[in-house]
Amino acid sequence: MTQVHLYDTTLRDGMQGQGMSLSAAEKVRVVRALDRLGVHFIEAGFPSSNPKEEELFRLLSDVELETAAVCAFGMTRRRGIAAEEDDGLQTLVSSFAPVCTLVGKTWALHLEKVTRVSREENLAMIIDSVSFCRGHGKRVVYDAEHFFDAWRDDSGYAMECLRAAMTGGAENVTLCDTNGASLPGEVAGAAASVVAELGERVEVGIHTHNDAEVGVANALAAVEAGARMVQGTINGVGERCGNANLASILPALQLKMGFECVSPDRTRLLTETAHFVDEICNLSPDPDQPYVGRNAFAHKGGMHVAGVQADARTFEHLDPELVGNSRDVLISELSGRGSVVSRASGAGIELDADAAKRAVERVKEREHRGYHYEAADASFELLLRRESGDYTPLFRLESFRVTTEKRADGGVETEATIKVWVEGRRHVRTAEGNGPVNALDVALRSAITELHPHLADIELVNYKVRILDEHQGTGAVTRVLLDSSDGHTDWGTIGVSENIIEASWEALVESLEYAFQPREAKAESARVPT
Ligand SMILES: [Zn+2]
Repeated sequence: MTQVHLYDTTLRDGMQGQGMSLSAAEKVRVVRALDRLGVHFIEAGFPSSNPKEEELFRLLSDVELETAAVCAFGMTRRRGIAAEEDDGLQTLVSSFAPVCTLVGKTWALHLEKVTRVSREENLAMIIDSVSFCRGHGKRVVYDAEHFFDAWRDDSGYAMECLRAAMTGGAENVTLCDTNGASLPGEVAGAAASVVAELGERVEVGIHTHNDAEVGVANALAAVEAGARMVQGTINGVGERCGNANLASILPALQLKMGFECVSPDRTRLLTETAHFVDEICNLSPDPDQPYVGRNAFAHKGGMHVAGVQADARTFEHLDPELVGNSRDVLISELSGRGSVVSRASGAGIELDADAAKRAVERVKEREHRGYHYEAADASFELLLRRESGDYTPLFRLESFRVTTEKRADGGVETEATIKVWVEGRRHVRTAEGNGPVNALDVALRSAITELHPHLADIELVNYKVRILDEHQGTGAVTRVLLDSSDGHTDWGTIGVSENIIEASWEALVESLEYAFQPREAKAESARVPT
């Protein structure tokens, strides 16, 4: 089977989308999930455009990946200087990332109006920059920005730019539809010409945007024309109307067009991975999203249901299990018995058949109430532990009370009092905080860290709230996702309630309980990027 490489740019181009923001630790979790899915390249960003990116590259240098290579992204050198004098290129080659992705100009309109660089100097900038990175032992992917606009304007010069990257030693030249202006026929035509001219010596890639709602179609057209690498983002997140959606491109290439992208069993992780990326970005998964949406294989009409029961092919374009989705899907991918058992063993928990069955029922019931475990790996593990009997509660709550006072001078004060039992002893603690969750956290921790001092080191690194209105006509329900860290590993927990304090409390308690469970099991489960 012919291989097509997948290049994920969720963490770079995807982060240009409205309201997209992830911490360095969250990005590492995304990298792990993408690696588990089997993508070949993960573009992490520019190694040190700010402290957050610097931290990301520092964290990533310790992460062992199975299938993916991390790409550091940067631009060709500035005009009029040598590549080694360019700070940006120096940063790129000094990063640990084995691959440098360089973006450069292709379109004369940009050379004239934006960068004011001559055509000749632009070609020199491309050759110099690529060969500089190659000289430092890096693999190079070259992104030809505005390639298709340039092609329409002057195809000869566009081809020269690609040749310059090839001369410099790039292993891949990627044709970028940066403005999203192109339609599939044009993309196929230009890609076929490039492949005919250069395809024997360099891999051709495609990077498309969804401005004309054909981002995916354009990418597939380019592969049909001979491109062998596709760049995109999970769920098509990205600037304006988004990038080409890898969650649709992967199944189309592998399950419909017969290319090999990832090992066959990994396509089953697609739905879970897509939902994980949505959850961690605090986006609601789109129920109507192709392949991975909750409704993608849901059948309503009586005739459809009967047809699907007789033979699924009558009303389904694809077997939903191949992409990790399921028919009649009210329940998520985690509720399958197989995945429950494999998660449990990954976390060192023994689940017998009865316990696995109970766990599946519990997941279904809780998902019905608004729980989603894709980004709450620690809560999921605790649920499995409770069913397996291998679970020790950290404390028993007697009661808590939180008050917030706002005064005429604008001051706001919050105080929490909790009464809990820890190993047979009653503790009553009062604490102030900058908000109700913080005050509860401080009070609870002061009670339990007397006996469990290591729980003092846990940091709550992220707190995300979403209002769910989709449940049961009970009015809105609040879902809280909490990310915690002990400096080595990160974990996510969830709480759901009509009351935001109660939902936050649940997520907070699960975070501490998770940290309290035996150590070896914790290290094990940290490797499973839910
Ligand atoms: Zn782009």
